[in-house]
Amino acid sequence: MDLDTLRSFIRDIPDFPKKGIVFKDITPLLKDGPALRFACDQLAGSFRGMKIDQVVGIESRGFIFSPVLAYQLGAGFVPVRKKGKLPAAKEAVSYSLEYGEDSLEVHLDAIKKGTQVVIVDDLLATGGTAEAVIRLVEKLGGTVLGLAFLVELGFLKGRDRLKGYQVHSLIQF
Ligand code: AMP
Repeated sequence: MDLDTLRSFIRDIPDFPKKGIVFKDITPLLKDGPALRFACDQLAGSFRGMKIDQVVGIESRGFIFSPVLAYQLGAGFVPVRKKGKLPAAKEAVSYSLEYGEDSLEVHLDAIKKGTQVVIVDDLLATGGTAEAVIRLVEKLGGTVLGLAFLVELGFLKGRDRLKGYQVHSLIQF
């Protein structure tokens, strides 16, 4: 397995979830054993040797890779969920979507001051989601050591919004 082969497992679905969007479908990669293992190992490799306390995963598809990474790095897993899903006391952050606003939430006691975290999602597009999660983690006093994505849509320049942070992606389009 290599990164070029891994790239070939990502499938384009035009006009999903709405007209004009080319959805990057990662399920062909997920269902292939060697591809899935390679992707997880490569993602974890970006942070090997660093002292990471927690991996923060973003709902929904970020939940596929983040617990695996946490396991590989010997770190804990913290879910950042969409509004209204978490049961205990929480902190929220709003971020803008193409139309309107949305918010993401994390449990108040999930990240302690001084905790070293990495943030994981399946795909980096405009960077709006990742930027919001950075704000959320920092509100709770966590230190963001880096961010990891399986796929990066480079033409949307999401990386520019994450200046000053270590950003890793395995596959770029
Ligand atoms: P953004 O905030 O623009 O960086 O968008 C990132 C989030 O939206 C990630 O959680 C992705 O899962 C999802 N996303 C955005 N664009 C796409 C796309 N073209 N294909 C698949 N997922 C996408």
